[in-house]
Amino acid sequence: MKQVLTYSALNCFRNCPRKFKHRYLDQLRHPEKPEAQAFGSAIHAALELWYSLAPEGERLLPVLDFADRLYPNHAGDPAVKAAWQLARAMLVGYATRYATEEFEIIAVEKEFEGEIRNPDTGRPSQTFTMAGKVDGIVRIGDELYLLEHKTAAALTADYLDRLWTDTQIALYCHYLRQLGFPIVGVVYNVLLKSRLQQRAGETEAEFEERRAALAAKNKTGRSTAKRQEPETDEEFQARLFDWYGQSGAFHREKIYLSQDRLAMLQDEVWEVTQQYLDAKGRGKWLMNTSNCFSFQRPCEYLPYCQSGFNPNVRDNLFEVAPAHEELSLTQATESPETEF
Ligand code: SF4
Repeated sequence: MKQVLTYSALNCFRNCPRKFKHRYLDQLRHPEKPEAQAFGSAIHAALELWYSLAPEGERLLPVLDFADRLYPNHAGDPAVKAAWQLARAMLVGYATRYATEEFEIIAVEKEFEGEIRNPDTGRPSQTFTMAGKVDGIVRIGDELYLLEHKTAAALTADYLDRLWTDTQIALYCHYLRQLGFPIVGVVYNVLLKSRLQQRAGETEAEFEERRAALAAKNKTGRSTAKRQEPETDEEFQARLFDWYGQSGAFHREKIYLSQDRLAMLQDEVWEVTQQYLDAKGRGKWLMNTSNCFSFQRPCEYLPYCQSGFNPNVRDNLFEVAPAHEELSLTQATESPETEF
């Protein structure tokens, strides 16, 4: 039986073979998911539900109910509460903005599996198949597009430029074309994360300091300033809803994918699989230290690599758990040695 390859595993090996070994062979994971990743996953799941429900029926209430269940501890934990409030406001804003769509939904969370081919001979790999899942397939006019959800902190020119370099989605497009979906491009569905914070109000000391400063500026030597009270949940939620009523809170970016680019990607996939087989055969997992701080964050395995792979560091910082993948079939059927 062939081994299933996902883009996440492939990209991980390409970026740093050692990281691939930690994540996919040794299955080392930090016990906690990074907060930003957890929030993005929650919104993805809520949008999956949104687009699975009939547009003519009630969709917002089930989606908000779903969001509430994703954050069961929102009353007790301030960080969870902040994420829950943000998710609710984002989803209400989204439902308002996109109550009617320019596209027709063809498929939601579409899984696929296809051959990885030798670009010189056209023969399929005897070792691997490629599998993945896309957020959706939509029709605009008479053309099909992938629908890809993104949550983003800011919509900058750099961010939009980076969408053009999204290799994963281009590769998925190639496989879906092979499965009979004539995809011409991608609609990136970008949801901005508001940076608004619930106001905590002033402490007595802060208020006295502010009042004294205002009084000092006043000819009378007095100030009528009042102490700022903490913002209630209702007030904050109302501010968030206003924020998500702005036109810039959501963005759709449509990108076309050329046949040349897709062919080039096939070559790359094949090459990476060959490099992997070579590394595995020789037991050599190189450290690509230029990747240790990509995206301005340290790699999650940095302390372990820095320690020279000290088993105490590994046991203290990581747990052994199957790598998070977008595919249930990968999780369900693969042992560590057959992940890639
Ligand atoms: S810390 Fe650097 S060398 Fe180590 S796994 Fe991460 S990217 Fe690779």
